[in-house]
Amino acid sequence: QPEEVPELPEGVAAHLRGEGIEELYPPQAAAVEAGVTRGESVVASVPTASGKTLVAELAMLSSVARGGTALYIVPLRALASEKKTEFERWEEYGFDVGVSTGNYESDGEWLASRDIVVATSEKVDSLVRNGAAWIDDLTCVVADEVHLVDDSHRGPTLEVTLGKLRTLNPGLQVVALSATVGNADVVAEWLDAELVESDWRPIDLRMGVHYGNAISFDDGSQREVPVGSGGRPTAALVDDALDGDPDEDADGADDQGSSLVFVNSRRNAEASAKRLRDVTDPHLTDDERGRLAELASEIRDVSDADTSDTLASCVAKGAAFHHAGLASEHRSLVEDAFRDRLVKCISATPTLAAGVNTPSRRVIVRDWRRYDGEFGGMKPLDVLEVHQMMGRAGRPGLDPYGEAVLLAKNAETRDELFERYIWADPEPVRSKLAAEPALRTHVLATVASGFAHTRAELLEFLDQTLYATQTDDSGRLEHVTDDVLAYLERNGFLEREDDSLTATSVGHTVSRLYLDPMTAAEIIDGLEWAEANRGEMVRALSGEDAASDAASTPSSDAAPTPASGDPTEAGFQRASELASGAGDENGTDADETADEDETDADETTDENLDGPTYPTALGLFHLVSRTPDMYQLYLKSGDRETYTEICYEREAELLGRTPSEYEDVRFEEWLSALKTARLLEDWADEVDEDRITERYGVGPGDIRGKVETAEWLLGAAERLAGELDLSVVPVREAKKRVEYGVREELLTLAGIRGVGRKRARRLYEAGIETRADLRGADKSVVLRALRGRRKTAEGILENVGRQDPSMEDVAKADSANTERA
Ligand code: ADP
Repeated sequence: QPEEVPELPEGVAAHLRGEGIEELYPPQAAAVEAGVTRGESVVASVPTASGKTLVAELAMLSSVARGGTALYIVPLRALASEKKTEFERWEEYGFDVGVSTGNYESDGEWLASRDIVVATSEKVDSLVRNGAAWIDDLTCVVADEVHLVDDSHRGPTLEVTLGKLRTLNPGLQVVALSATVGNADVVAEWLDAELVESDWRPIDLRMGVHYGNAISFDDGSQREVPVGSGGRPTAALVDDALDGDPDEDADGADDQGSSLVFVNSRRNAEASAKRLRDVTDPHLTDDERGRLAELASEIRDVSDADTSDTLASCVAKGAAFHHAGLASEHRSLVEDAFRDRLVKCISATPTLAAGVNTPSRRVIVRDWRRYDGEFGGMKPLDVLEVHQMMGRAGRPGLDPYGEAVLLAKNAETRDELFERYIWADPEPVRSKLAAEPALRTHVLATVASGFAHTRAELLEFLDQTLYATQTDDSGRLEHVTDDVLAYLERNGFLEREDDSLTATSVGHTVSRLYLDPMTAAEIIDGLEWAEANRGEMVRALSGEDAASDAASTPSSDAAPTPASGDPTEAGFQRASELASGAGDENGTDADETADEDETDADETTDENLDGPTYPTALGLFHLVSRTPDMYQLYLKSGDRETYTEICYEREAELLGRTPSEYEDVRFEEWLSALKTARLLEDWADEVDEDRITERYGVGPGDIRGKVETAEWLLGAAERLAGELDLSVVPVREAKKRVEYGVREELLTLAGIRGVGRKRARRLYEAGIETRADLRGADKSVVLRALRGRRKTAEGILENVGRQDPSMEDVAKADSANTERA
């Protein structure tokens, strides 16, 4: 029982009891036995939904009670705020909780006052790089979903970060939470931790395969689920779960069961939900229908994109879809409604299986293969992944048991699926650290932040990683490390003298900005290229070439005319004048304060409007889009022709020589980057969100993702330009345009808190162009431009420092006018 854990702070056990946690689950008890509340390191490898979070909470609360500080590392940003909210219930017992989601390149000093901090591994890595002092005082660190060290993109960061935290804090307690994996013992060995391994689940799980007209379960039982004439097994299974189970319904309880359907792509998720809404609809009560209609309109309010509309129309009938292209507000609305049993069925991509707590009566793994670009075809999912999806089946306290079902088209596949997933053990996790892109980043950061001063120290540090624990071939790591060191030296990020390693000034900046060194090299090359070819390009842009596309781009509209004499004197503000303060205003976690410091940005914008702008926004968008830190849009069929054409039309804007069409791979990447850049340009040209989603075949969440990444990379480019004495203003302007999603003339207005891209445009059209205009404007004009929203108008006037922001008189006069009319 929780009461029997003496290390737990006052009140915690009673609180847990109040939540229905009467006794610890067996794996939790085993973790306590292993010393998790006494500061011992523990690796808990247990199935999904068996209470890993509580193990972490017990560790963190008891560590903080002993005067320490705890850090909880999550694998996804979306999970950070969810976990923070979960832990906030401990604030009434005196535990302060903070979440670090701010920009990279800050030390998050305010977090020093928190007892429990939640952050992603990338954020923690960046805090270490930026020398956050409080990191040295940690006593307990939790790594959630530690099996993701196996992920080739994000795994190495978690691996290296845990290594650094342990180096900084000898004796640090590490609590690693993992799904069941094939080699939890190796993970425990790496972390010098006790191993708690268990198959225990709080609720029975039946696993089976549906084929023909029945599910065969692993316990040998069968359940009839006829597919009927429609021939769609998923629909039949969802319908069957909603009908409930007559065998288990002895107590007359509401036995209606929800379903989670896992599919392999976003498009499939949407298509599946559209079909399944006709299955869920007849099971709804009138009351549910009413509540779902409300929910649907909330969903429509989130964004005006098509996805929003489709989702709303599904939700109105009790079905939903869930994938990474959704806005986060959409995701949480759907998850909450599913937990409240209002939404009966979610069709999801596997991102839902990772982390978010959405248990369901039945889990249907419809697609067990997924397209894999590297593999070049459809590839079966890992056992571990399928087990995590299946583990979402069964809601303790609500369902008699959970059911996880795979689908087979023939008897042969049925047998294969039993072998492959139901009887199989999950794979072992394998470190991906020895890959060059991962090491490039981490070697630079390890040297820059002082964890290694020589090649020998570097190898010693790397020797403490999971990679080293696992491999027999330590020569390989050494070999890749040497390649990476040579790369970093060649690009001017590191200097080597004999055995000693030092980061250069630019190297330090790159590490702190959290850039892949290859991204930084690409950006620097592009900006230097622009500087060297400025004259020629500016001439090309103001000539006939640019005219053909002038209508669609304000940047080429304001076509840079070649300045007489030295261009640097003709409005190209030099870096040295601006380097001080460049980028600093946005470097803090307290985003709120950022937009109050707009004044100097206004000035530089105004100045720049008169002079020529080169590089153009498109050129800069393209530059950051071709770095490895931007996830590019794919070229779909027909895109190659379209973007080849655009590429030649706007070649003078692109920074660097366009690869020849015969360099197939490079040319293709160049075009993908151009497609991504065009999306950003549309956004910065105030094109409506739903037009953009349609034009590029993406979801609103994708637009936000691209915009955020571009903002970060352009901010980094601005810093690098400053440091290397290259032209800063065009970069800053491109960053602001993408940040606010507006054309140049709206930058001032859109920077005001409470004014988005649409409101800025309406104010501008009403003749209000600057903050000063807003301060002196006729209130009724402001109110009309803001569509009569009085509170909004007052807030905005207050934000620009208007003496008397009240709209009371205006509103009265206005309504009097309307009455008279
Ligand atoms: P995991 O992280 O292992 O997937 P969670 O930590 O999300 O699982 O736990 C799943 C659910 O089980 C949560 O709703 C949690 O409140 C509940 N739970 C955890 N421990 C206990 C317990 N000892 N008794 C009852 N419920 C528990």
